[in-house]
Amino acid sequence: MCVLYINVHSIVLSISFLSNHISGVLKGWDDGGRWDTIFLAGQRDKDPPIIFDKIIAGEILADAVRENERVLAFKDINSAAPAHILVFPKDRYGLSNLRKASAEHIDILGRLLVAAGKIANDEILGFGDRALIVINDGSDCGQGVPHLHVHVLGGRKMIWPPG
Ligand code: 5GP
Repeated sequence: MCVLYINVHSIVLSISFLSNHISGVLKGWDDGGRWDTIFLAGQRDKDPPIIFDKIIAGEILADAVRENERVLAFKDINSAAPAHILVFPKDRYGLSNLRKASAEHIDILGRLLVAAGKIANDEILGFGDRALIVINDGSDCGQGVPHLHVHVLGGRKMIWPPG
């Protein structure tokens, strides 16, 4: 009985030691940014939820025009053209802006562009044979919402380059 107690006690001590050791190593990885070199680490999202998350959750109403399991598109509330749709990933995947994109985002970026292209072909939404498809990246370049999104604008002649 005594021997059994000692063994159980030493096992508990070993597990506790191992657990503390692993926690210390993981904290060291976090502090040193080592996770960021691991595949899919870029999809960790540390930014707080914003307006698009509330739209996805149905807390704020938006005029959705296209939706699938990964992508949502709705009419811009402050449209800059007769047809102005925003396309964005329902899960931000850490992409508050496009400069954060890496190889692990190829799938969602492809889905966004395919959706944008389909929207730009949609005559019911007011698009004709051309569209301006834009991603603003950074507040100095007109980005107000830190959740990657593609603007699809059309229904009139667009001027290039932008101001
Ligand atoms: P950004 O300036 O970040 O490139 O584009 C953000 C866009 O989101 C703006 O054009 C703005 O009008 C639009 N927007 C911001 N809040 C809302 C909202 O609550 N509903 C809708 N439908 N669009 C919004």
